[in-house]
Amino acid sequence: MRIEQDLKLDFKDVLIRPKRSTLTSRSEVDISRDFVFLHSQRKYHGIPIIAANMDATGTFAMARALARHQLSVAVHKHYGEAELLAFFAEQPAIPTAFYSMGITQPDYDKFRRVKEQAGGTIEYVCVDVANGYTKAFVGFIHKLRTAYPDITIMAGNVVTGEMTEELILDGVDIVKVGIGPGSVCTTRRMSGVGYPQLSAIIECADAAHGLHGLICADGGCTSPGDLAKAFGAGADFVMLGGMLAGHDECGFEIIEHDGIQKMRFYGMSSREAMEKYAGGVAEYRAAEGKDVLLDYRGAVEDTVQEILGGVRSACTYVGARKLKELSKRTTFIRVTQQLNEVFGQA
Ligand code: 5GP
Repeated sequence: MRIEQDLKLDFKDVLIRPKRSTLTSRSEVDISRDFVFLHSQRKYHGIPIIAANMDATGTFAMARALARHQLSVAVHKHYGEAELLAFFAEQPAIPTAFYSMGITQPDYDKFRRVKEQAGGTIEYVCVDVANGYTKAFVGFIHKLRTAYPDITIMAGNVVTGEMTEELILDGVDIVKVGIGPGSVCTTRRMSGVGYPQLSAIIECADAAHGLHGLICADGGCTSPGDLAKAFGAGADFVMLGGMLAGHDECGFEIIEHDGIQKMRFYGMSSREAMEKYAGGVAEYRAAEGKDVLLDYRGAVEDTVQEILGGVRSACTYVGARKLKELSKRTTFIRVTQQLNEVFGQA
């Protein structure tokens, strides 16, 4: 047994320090990014925010609504093949939609069939497992990259630099970072496993950028300021679940609860999701997600405007004319009272 004594931080533990700036208005800030992906060599232009591949947020309706603002969606994996084909045929109207899959043989076979028919309209793939540290996961990435040299692969999840490096060397373009921070995730409580998300982003971004790879910070953002902190910490993309849930585009029914309109949102490893898609929770495992009722928030449009406004505002406060400059201009200050007490800093 070992104990790591290094300080690890979450979004809530820091704030971004303002810096002198010549910017006078948020409208002068450009929060789009351009990338050329390391392996696929494809070009990307857009606002690097991705709706999570959960069945509430990774919907076709969400993809269409977010595409109007140059945001992306990782489409959830429970759509049927015909629906996926029809959706990807809408290209180029929705330029960055990720096809999501797990690492089972049926997942791979389904992807091969859909890709064969969809051809070049599927450019982006999201390979998503709860634990990105397994040999099976790495083996799957090898297989996928060898078979499809020119697709852009986002894959995870991991939380440490050495695994980020391994995945990039194995063929991943964007490493997905985050174990346990999700709003409807109970991994930390159920298994005791996890990593404070801000530190995970800082460490994985550093590892990825050293190899010209990219990372996507996945989970734990509860406000626009958290996205600003994630980008400030070095995230190239940020993935959102809970912040985009509760909207019309999720396709869930509106429930009246104590006179307030609500909408369900549950983790993709929750009992609810496993019952819906896998016929129940297998005997050997426990659910690692929960089911919550969120306030219904109407169309996602206003939420998107709020998020983009918050990120732009952060850029203005630190004098970053472009989102790309935000991390270079970010100095975090620690704020958590509890940590201050533990480390004796008032
Ligand atoms: P949020 O933005 O809601 O904080 O986090 C979204 C992320 O939570 C997803 O992209 C995914 O990585 C993670 N997630 C979704 N469902 C579950 C689940 O049931 N269990 C766990 N451990 N993580 C989940």
